[in-house]
Amino acid sequence: MKNTTFEPPVSHLAEADPEIYGAVESEIRRQNENVELIASENYSSFAVRESCGSVLTDKYAEGYPGRRWYGGCEWVDEVEKLAIARACKLFGAEYANVQPHAGSQANMAILMAAIRPGGKVLGMSLSHGGHLTHGHKRNFSGDLYQAVSYGVDEQTGFLDYRQVRRLAEQENPDIIIAGASAYSRKIDFGHFRDIADQVGAYLMVDMAHIAGLIAAGLHPDPVPYADFIASTTHKTLRGPRSGFILARRKYAESIDAAVFPGIQGGPLMHVIAAKAVAFKEAMSPAFADYQVQVLANADAMARHFIERGLRVVSGGTDNHLMLLDLSGNGFSGREATEWLAAANITVNKNVIPFDKRSPAEAGGIRIGTPAITSRGMKEKAAVQIADWIVEILMSKDPEETAGSLRSKVKGLCDEFPVHCC
Ligand code: PLP
Repeated sequence: MKNTTFEPPVSHLAEADPEIYGAVESEIRRQNENVELIASENYSSFAVRESCGSVLTDKYAEGYPGRRWYGGCEWVDEVEKLAIARACKLFGAEYANVQPHAGSQANMAILMAAIRPGGKVLGMSLSHGGHLTHGHKRNFSGDLYQAVSYGVDEQTGFLDYRQVRRLAEQENPDIIIAGASAYSRKIDFGHFRDIADQVGAYLMVDMAHIAGLIAAGLHPDPVPYADFIASTTHKTLRGPRSGFILARRKYAESIDAAVFPGIQGGPLMHVIAAKAVAFKEAMSPAFADYQVQVLANADAMARHFIERGLRVVSGGTDNHLMLLDLSGNGFSGREATEWLAAANITVNKNVIPFDKRSPAEAGGIRIGTPAITSRGMKEKAAVQIADWIVEILMSKDPEETAGSLRSKVKGLCDEFPVHCC
């Protein structure tokens, strides 16, 4: 019988390092017994994880295929060439760099390639759904560059394109970043292109969250509009934890140089192999079906929250995630996260646009459907989970309610074991 459990072959590890083995085993149990609603997480396939755990981890390969600084690179060259070709094919791009270790490194390499330190970046504010690397002051992007931020409209919760244009005209940025970590609506990349052209700025798109949806043709495509595209591979795209860059061919040399030797040393060839596998998986019809279900589950959950009286920022979702605004409910996102954890439901606290609470407390929670959909859950299960969340958050004694629902949540998890395709 085909092994459909989530257990990796960790027997060598058990012998060599029982403590780490124990932690891995506990994490397997946690993943199986908890409903994972963190919008940026997913379950990668056995094939992806087998590549990550392969001998390719032992190989140094500074440089690029056919021009390495080390010998013995003939097989890792094959791996990287496949990963590049598949990334280009999947997204219809002219050029790809698959070496960034993660999304943050992809963003850093693009900024390094495109503008000089001291240049001006216009990105989405972290407090409105952007990412740290889009110009936050505690991040390199706000430290090395002059950062200006745009956000969402206070009334609608939708991206405020008029503000983006006004700021672009006023500030004359060198680069505009479109993309987000906690924004539930489609992004109009053509509109961003128009604004960038008006002020003579580069347009960079960070599609980390929505890469899987874009690959499946379920979100507007940034490729025709962006000069540079950064992404992670582990969110909706369901690959290993990592990053990559797409760009127009004319920027190939500067992006390659910015990644290596600019900000990284040896590429992680085992992870590049896993990225190649993930890109191949993402070309299958089953992957497109999966993304359709991700959207259907998110939509069903958002509608249920609204029906039951919770506020969803912007009134719904077009993608895999939503933000619940709990600011009118008298408790914080931190508290909500802790109560839900007691019912084996994992979410993250999240500031909501125009939040009055500190980021540590936060006025809301972010909820995403990529992981539950990878377990095979459909709308019925998604609505059931949303219903439990409402029951806990609206309860007079949320902790007790969470405790009483825990076995039901585990029951649902048993029905949908974490196995991968
Ligand atoms: N860009 C966006 C939009 C993200 O949401 C994230 C991570 O959450 C990143 C970049 C950074 O990715 P990583 O955590 O792999 O550095």
